[in-house]
Amino acid sequence: MRNAILELLRSHGADYLSGEDVSRQLAVSRTAVWKHIQALKQAGYEIESHTRLGYRLRVVPDRLCPEEIIPHFNTQWMGKRILYFNDIGSTNIEARDEAQRGAPEGTIVVSEMQNNGMGRLARGWYSPQYKGIWLSVVLRPKFRPQDAPKCSLMAAVALERAIAAQTGIHCGIKWPNDLLVGNKKLVGILTEMSANFDSINYIIIGMGINVNLLGEDIPEDLQSIATSLAIITGKTVDRKALLGKILKELEYSYEQVCREGFGKLLDEWRQKSITLGQIVDVYGLDQHFSGQAVDIDAEGALLIERPTGIERVVAGDVSIRMKTAE
Ligand code: ADP
Repeated sequence: MRNAILELLRSHGADYLSGEDVSRQLAVSRTAVWKHIQALKQAGYEIESHTRLGYRLRVVPDRLCPEEIIPHFNTQWMGKRILYFNDIGSTNIEARDEAQRGAPEGTIVVSEMQNNGMGRLARGWYSPQYKGIWLSVVLRPKFRPQDAPKCSLMAAVALERAIAAQTGIHCGIKWPNDLLVGNKKLVGILTEMSANFDSINYIIIGMGINVNLLGEDIPEDLQSIATSLAIITGKTVDRKALLGKILKELEYSYEQVCREGFGKLLDEWRQKSITLGQIVDVYGLDQHFSGQAVDIDAEGALLIERPTGIERVVAGDVSIRMKTAE
């Protein structure tokens, strides 16, 4: 009902719409209409009320609530189920719980902020309110558990495409899971999996996209490593349209991978990579070495050339630092 009222208000643009018209067209009482209008105001919609003329929608809030994002969705199945929060610990944890309760493939969790956003290796992801897209997606692929880490690479490629299409900005992909612009991190991706020996139960792809953070929104310790689309473009970026494009690109890439395997996607990843060709420092739990990143293999692992031979590093175990990026 709330959605239907919103649609009516939207379709009247700058004109007033009488409470009586709404109540007649939607077959609800005037009191019910009034209650829904109050709820919309609470949610951030600025609605002018006039005793004689009725209601008029003045300002639509910059929120990623279902009413606002669904009109931007152009997908077959991705995002058909939306869990929306104003405030949450971590979208990945919520998505994990939902997946465990049987959430269907394509379920998305979106929050306006995260209090405990997750990075890899137990690191945090700073996720201030209304400034980014803090998103997790549930997938249930039929492929082998060994292929799951490549979903991070798949998401990186899909996000790069979506961001380029919406803003004209081309990011570089830092292996395995970051999108960078000018050596600063714009997007972080965290993929988690639940699997049996030979089949995947579910995969959660978590994405943190710094959209409208301004310089002053970025904490001191991240100033030298983080950036946002607003900082790069000097403009506020439409989070709703970008979210719609991200889901479209993710759906497209995932379907391609399920149909044909990861080959094409890994090639695109290579083209967009800023890690390959660089001298990198690799930090693992019990190892630290340097070498030249020369390629990724069919499993998505990074191949590092050292005097002793090729070293293979797997995402999840290590952090890498590019020497040129320091
Ligand atoms: P790594 O960069 O080692 O692969 P992650 O991809 O998991 O690690 O990202 C987590 C790291 O990213 C944090 O330790 C922090 O330094 C940085 N970070 C946290 N929040 C943000 C943010 N909103 N934008 C950019 N970088 C961030």
